Amino acid sequence: MGLAEFETPTVLRPYQLLCVVRHPGEEQPKGQSEKLRRVRQAMREYPDMPITLVCNVGDVYLYQDPGTADDSPEGADYNRKRDLDILHLLALAPGSTLPARALFLTLLKRVASVRGICGYDTVTGAGWEGCPRAASGAYEKAHERGIDALIPPRTQEEMAREKRESLAALYAAEVVPVRPHILMCAVCQYGGGTRPPYPEDNLPELLELVLNRKPDLLIRMARGADWMMCAPCPKRVPKLNACVHILGSCGLSNEKRDLDLLQKLGLHFGSTMKARDLFRLILERIPTTQDVCRRDEACVCPSVWWDTCGESNRAQGSPNYEKGRAALLAKLGLP
Ligand code: SF4
Ligand code: SF4
Repeated sequence: MGLAEFETPTVLRPYQLLCVVRHPGEEQPKGQSEKLRRVRQAMREYPDMPITLVCNVGDVYLYQDPGTADDSPEGADYNRKRDLDILHLLALAPGSTLPARALFLTLLKRVASVRGICGYDTVTGAGWEGCPRAASGAYEKAHERGIDALIPPRTQEEMAREKRESLAALYAAEVVPVRPHILMCAVCQYGGGTRPPYPEDNLPELLELVLNRKPDLLIRMARGADWMMCAPCPKRVPKLNACVHILGSCGLSNEKRDLDLLQKLGLHFGSTMKARDLFRLILERIPTTQDVCRRDEACVCPSVWWDTCGESNRAQGSPNYEKGRAALLAKLGLP
């Protein structure tokens, strides 16, 4: 699988997501084992490869109807219903394309069992017998194993090495690239009592450096999960400089947070400032996390815009940010 294939979405029926999750050794619908085996293998190499979900729904979604070639043998209406049941649980439209990791994390969060989706408690008539493998328990066991069985996580060794190398680079740097909104996360961490050494990112180390040793260190506003701060994070994808926190698509909400903060500060990606001046600007202009971090009522789980900070900021800004802001204003000698 090369880059071109990575950029071209793999087209699947919604029910095939469930078949991919099942144990790789499990029998698959006739003729599909090879296709699904290739998808599983490709996901291990490219966990964020795009997948497009298509199904036979007609109506105004006719443009994406794939035909019945991939139907399993239980009947056309059963196939239509099973696909729609899954899309409904994922809150996705037919034809939606998402990165595989985001799609499978969402599926595992929303579908713990195939009962009522692939098979029914009562057979109400011909064509509604369901899939003969639905009651095997294979999907439910795979659900318990979770996403790591499909997509291997970053190893402890890799993250520890990245921590060492990125910290060395930070301490030697004249200019530190940072994605903008995580400077606010640094304030939340500070208010919550996080201090170096912190294994999962380098923000506490940056703040300690700026407060105690290098106030004039230059910080440049960078896009994405930039290496110098995010290198050791379990949720960073080095190949894509991407953040796959929460349901695999947190990078999207984070990019908006970056841009919202830049707009409030009157800065841009690429803007460079002395660290203390930049922190002063943030603390003065951003009294609460709510305007940058909150996600409104439309972004309920499993929306690609949903995350825990977005949800918790709905009612009030982060108390840790307010605590950290007050402590840092005092440390920087500001009112
Ligand atoms: S509330 Fe906002 S600033 Fe604080 S940790 Fe969450 S995303 Fe970061
Ligand atoms: S990769 Fe994402 S979750 Fe990890 S530190 Fe960077 S922005 Fe935060």
